[in-house]
Amino acid sequence: MGLLTGAGMMQASTQGRGKEMGEDRMAQLEEVAERPVLDLSDVHAPIVVEAVDVLRPVANKYVVRVRSRDGAEGFAVGNELHFGALYPILQQRIAPAIIGRDVRYWEECLHDIFLHRSNYKLQGLAFWLPLATLEFAVLDLLGRVSERAVPDMVGGFVRKGVGLYYAHNDRDRTAEDSVRRMRRNVERTGAKAVKFKVGGRMSRNADSLPGRTEAIIPLAREVLGAEMTLYADSNGSYDVAEAIRVGRLLEGQRVAFFEEPVPFDRFADTKSVADALDIPIAGGEQDASSYNLQWSLALDALQVVQPDLFYFGGLVRSIRVARMAAAVGRDCTPHISGAGMGFLYVLHFAAAVSNAGPHQEFKGVAEDIPWECSTSSLRPENGVVQVPTGPGWGIELDPQWIAQAKVLGPI
Ligand SMILES: [Mg+2]
Repeated sequence: MGLLTGAGMMQASTQGRGKEMGEDRMAQLEEVAERPVLDLSDVHAPIVVEAVDVLRPVANKYVVRVRSRDGAEGFAVGNELHFGALYPILQQRIAPAIIGRDVRYWEECLHDIFLHRSNYKLQGLAFWLPLATLEFAVLDLLGRVSERAVPDMVGGFVRKGVGLYYAHNDRDRTAEDSVRRMRRNVERTGAKAVKFKVGGRMSRNADSLPGRTEAIIPLAREVLGAEMTLYADSNGSYDVAEAIRVGRLLEGQRVAFFEEPVPFDRFADTKSVADALDIPIAGGEQDASSYNLQWSLALDALQVVQPDLFYFGGLVRSIRVARMAAAVGRDCTPHISGAGMGFLYVLHFAAAVSNAGPHQEFKGVAEDIPWECSTSSLRPENGVVQVPTGPGWGIELDPQWIAQAKVLGPI
């Protein structure tokens, strides 16, 4: 059997030449993805993990704290949509694998965690999200100990100001109401790009409201103007034929990408849509498998790849995807779910990755988490947010808020 499986084999069996090209690219991307991401070679003292704690400062807010034997600490704020249900996986299946480990060699730890107690059998959001949260705390620890910002541990800053796009996610509003809200947000933030929903969300071609998709595409262009970058997301609403029809409407208004035109795990269908259209196809937010994204890039099924920094398992794995995308000349623009501090992690990704794309998804930063940042307001000015440059993620959580937090015991 060759390197291609599943959808890849189907593609390969119908196109001999495509098979060779795909296999060459698969091997090339494999090699790119295996290169080390973290470089702490000039940090000479071990940074050994003594404890991993899950803290709950208030209801439905979670913080992971990693403490070293030397008493240094790193923090990460959990994803509010899922971490409350998934932290037992961190406690039972992930944290035990790194107690006593020197996390200067985090990439080795990642692989060992994947094998620990056959954790690979859990692969999916439920495994990668708690691991990502732990990684964010580990990176904070490494940055604080080595006194450098996260981008300086993964190759250095390529930019310090990150352009954002505003995502309007409410497809139950009429086209007119949606566009009105997008315009208001653009006026408030200075965003130079917006994303709006088309279709009904995994809806087998049904629209969310009758005629909304046909209405919103030209209206967004008309109201937001010729200069605005527009993106559209169908959340897997269509079959191939309908996705191609809607994709042509998007092309007619110069929409810059079409996200998840078909259900996300229909890889060959996604490729069929991409082959038929000129508009770049975006996707990857649901993916847990690096191999799936490798295949999608190698076969040119996706022209913009969008791993979710939490769902996909953190910064290091996502940077590997970005490097694979760069090798085929594509952008890797991460997805981020919910508010919380997710955008902080996206900012650092975009600061360190040259092909992060021109605009990052912005859903705001948490106003109900007591953080301070001396190097950035973390708020958009003229559509750009400055990346914090202090150690680790460059923010400080209120020590009182942490000190009074409940430490959650194993379940
Ligand atoms: Mg999406």
